[in-house]
Amino acid sequence: MAIALAVKEALSSSSMIRKMFEEGAELKKKYGTVFDFSIGNPDLEPPPAFHRVFAEFAEDDRRGLSKGSHGYMSNAGFADVREALAKKASAEQGCEIPASRIVMAAGAAGGLNVVCKSILNPGDELVVPKPYFMEYRAYVSNHGGKLVEAPTRPDFNLDLGAVEESLSEKTAAVLVNSPHNPTGVVYPEKDIAALAALLRGHGEKTGRYPYLVADEPYREIAYGLTVPPLLCAYENSIVVTSYSKSLSLPGERIGYIAVGPEAREGEELVAALIYATRVLGFVNAPALMQRIVARLTGERVAVGTYEKRREAFMNVLDGAGIEYRKPEGAFYLFCKVPRRAGGNAAGGAAGGDDSGNDRAFSDCLKKHLVLGVPGSSFGAPGWIRFAYCVDESVIASSARAFRDAVEEWRAAPL
Ligand code: PLP
Repeated sequence: MAIALAVKEALSSSSMIRKMFEEGAELKKKYGTVFDFSIGNPDLEPPPAFHRVFAEFAEDDRRGLSKGSHGYMSNAGFADVREALAKKASAEQGCEIPASRIVMAAGAAGGLNVVCKSILNPGDELVVPKPYFMEYRAYVSNHGGKLVEAPTRPDFNLDLGAVEESLSEKTAAVLVNSPHNPTGVVYPEKDIAALAALLRGHGEKTGRYPYLVADEPYREIAYGLTVPPLLCAYENSIVVTSYSKSLSLPGERIGYIAVGPEAREGEELVAALIYATRVLGFVNAPALMQRIVARLTGERVAVGTYEKRREAFMNVLDGAGIEYRKPEGAFYLFCKVPRRAGGNAAGGAAGGDDSGNDRAFSDCLKKHLVLGVPGSSFGAPGWIRFAYCVDESVIASSARAFRDAVEEWRAAPL
């Protein structure tokens, strides 16, 4: 047998999003137009400052002025880059974070794997509010841990009682993501303070203070509000972030990890993160991108464009009679599978098993060339996610297809 069993198993159940991406490409070839809202791949170009700084580096390089800048560096990243990003993180998180607490990462995915390798013993648990970005499951199991799902409230905000029930002596960390994929929720400050108090209380009781890991690639994409900080709300916290969304650089694999200034055994934790960065095969975050993002700390993509798209998409959904949770950040709309005559609220047969209904609804949409990702891929059957990081014209012209699909869905026999 050539392929590891665990990977084989994961392959058969994994990445609905990637599958949709490939199906979308097929449909595009066949029909020309597809309303593809399946993948969170930002279509906005990086801000003009990125191109300017990139060109300056290329020119310096050509003139031999940047010797050594493509070489190995400390596995944590360039010292001056860590310094610049410590300043940015301190301003965002509302407390002083020294450069020694910043470790550069190959995107948020790389950073989360580095964190999991650094803090999980075999069988340790990592608690995640559900729904959640599905790759977390793989990141945790990559490093011998177990993901424990904690239900959320009906509006997808934290259910602190459910988090409390999910904690055990094996809990190494609670992982939160705000602004949230797939729901667009931004956790309010009071819920973060309550979560911090809960984790402190758990630590006092058990002697084990779980880490609070904040996955924040969408921090800078929020609408009319500032995302409350997590790093300084609780002593034992770690922020993982990237420039995949805020500067539209997902292919460049650049981000960083910040460790709270008050974290227990903080220095040892940073040493573990640096070691994990090296031995997981990243060795270090991409050198050129480190240097570029350090000079772009005040820049981000045009968030107003995403906000306009959010409004346009909500209009389309309203027109089709699809209910959704209005997002406060990120660029996803999480929608309820519409109710059918005689069906239950999740779009399934009354009293019947509705777990497959989001898939059935997604298939119905696909017939009308609309692609979204079934909520069961995020642990939320009965829901469907649409990514609105696509051109506004695609959103506007999908209105008819949404209406027709919902009409067909409601008329179809249960
Ligand atoms: N976390 C969340 C919630 C995401 O949505 C994504 C990507 O879509 C990631 C992490 C991974 O981001 P990156 O491309 O920076 O690795």
